[in-house]
Amino acid sequence: NLSDKLDKALHILKGHGQITEVNVAETLKEVRRALVDADVNYKIAKDFTARVREKALGQDVLKSLKPGQLMVKLVKDELTELMGGDAVGIDTSGNPSVILMSGLQGSGKTTFSGKLANYLKDKKKKKPLLVACDVYRPAAVDQLHVVGDQINVEVFSDKGNTNPVAIAKAGIAYAKANDFDTVIVDTAGRLAIDEMMMTEIANIHKTIQPNETLFVVDAMTGQDAVNTAKAFNEVLNFDGVILTKLDGDTRGGAAISIKSVVNKPIKFVGMGEKMDALDVFYPSRMADRILGMGDVVSLVERAQEQFDEEEARKLQKKIAKNQFGFDDFLKQIQQVKKMGNMKDLMGMIPGAGKMLKNIDVDDDAFKHIEAIIHSMTPAERTKPQIINASRKKRIGKGSGTSVQQVNQLLKQFDQMSKMMKMMQGGGGKRMMQMMNK
Ligand code: GDP
Ligand code: MG
Repeated sequence: NLSDKLDKALHILKGHGQITEVNVAETLKEVRRALVDADVNYKIAKDFTARVREKALGQDVLKSLKPGQLMVKLVKDELTELMGGDAVGIDTSGNPSVILMSGLQGSGKTTFSGKLANYLKDKKKKKPLLVACDVYRPAAVDQLHVVGDQINVEVFSDKGNTNPVAIAKAGIAYAKANDFDTVIVDTAGRLAIDEMMMTEIANIHKTIQPNETLFVVDAMTGQDAVNTAKAFNEVLNFDGVILTKLDGDTRGGAAISIKSVVNKPIKFVGMGEKMDALDVFYPSRMADRILGMGDVVSLVERAQEQFDEEEARKLQKKIAKNQFGFDDFLKQIQQVKKMGNMKDLMGMIPGAGKMLKNIDVDDDAFKHIEAIIHSMTPAERTKPQIINASRKKRIGKGSGTSVQQVNQLLKQFDQMSKMMKMMQGGGGKRMMQMMNK
């Protein structure tokens, strides 16, 4: 796992009050190994560490007060840059704006088409139309209709027609005639690069001249993802990459390599099969995640989206005043549960990834947590500090868990409160300090 490896690599630095040139080199070697293990192309990883090294020496890391911190920052900044700097949106300026999906079969095009339509409709107040151009499997058209029904977005299809170019054209004409402002064209893919598929997608592309061509790729496919990206980019010169299935046991390497090889921004990431499992891609957050800090910002944002605003404001105040208690935590868990897959969400909590590796995370994990909180008195919930040994025993008994489990939750809660407090302060710097402890 890349995070673990980087943790280990950076750990070499953390222990030392002083850093010698030797352990900068050693650390960078570990970082490089970690990247390569995560399927980052060897040369990219090597260039990466060389750049960090140069910067480290240029900034006199060795003489700085907190060399470990500075190194972490350098690695993080460089990773962020490597993955694309600032977040890049989708061009929706056309009338209608045409968005073309490309990618191998199973990469997640149809699912992402639905997610994107849903996102544009809900978040950007657009009126999208989905167009079904996967003509090879009848089930593919049905699948898009199922997706469309789920999100209340109309789907244009023409079942007897086997010419995807004609369907795409007809779909766009239909959109124009019926006031749709965005057209999302879902296409067929194959299991591997082949000439027919490439010719077909090139033809659709040439004919409809989309505002935005997106390349959808399964993050779990490692090095292959890079080769596929290269092949599609040569034919389509696409505008952006969609990295799907990042909720699985994926290696962050795909994000890094694809960006460096095709030099196109990653625009969204897929975090699950559900229609709302879509996140805008933020390189710096991804870098944090790779570095094992957890994608706290996304988590907080997503949690807040689900709260009503009043609730969010109250929560923010509480966090700022250090009054965030177990009742709030319980509320959050309930909100979080609405959002879908537990593993996604837990993965975003710093440190949780490691902690949860040995536990099979499903909703049951939350049942314990909820049971423990329910066994606390109101006073204990608002002031967890008062929970002493005998209270722990009582809570454990009451919730059918052990004192260890109670302890674990208290510890997690404490860490989480600290994290949240820091997020409030907006202090990236302080996050870094925390990481260095
Ligand atoms: P297509 O062949 O490119 O259209 O791919 P599909 O959209 O049909 O997706 C293939 C499979 O991957 C389906 O079972 C999807 O539910 C699943 N899938 C797509 N995106 C994601 C994702 O972000 N996370 C997970 N876990 N599964 C996904
Ligand atoms: Mg499909």
